Amino acid sequence: MLPNYQFFPVSHPEEGAGGKTGNWRVVRPEVTSKCIGCNACFLWCPEGTIMVKGNKAEVNYVYCKGCGVCANVCPVKAITMVSEA
Ligand code: SF4
Ligand code: SF4
Repeated sequence: MLPNYQFFPVSHPEEGAGGKTGNWRVVRPEVTSKCIGCNACFLWCPEGTIMVKGNKAEVNYVYCKGCGVCANVCPVKAITMVSEA
């Protein structure tokens, strides 16, 4: 089912010339229970790899490149960037 933002074009991640962008990642975003489902991370993620289902954001780690934009735009600081090491 499409989210409420049907008036925005919604893209979905696919493998590009550089392969799966999840291979670039050194830190990953982890969504905590503080998430209020506001959709800000969904709107700003440059890879289209975070979607809000119910009241919780979920990350597609196959394509998430760990840029941290989602963590920066989250108004309630519900996303923590965690080292992959
Ligand atoms: S870290 Fe970057 S690519 Fe990964 S979900 Fe957040 S905004 Fe999207
Ligand atoms: S921006 Fe933060 S509060 Fe909003 S949906 Fe994403 S993780 Fe949840």
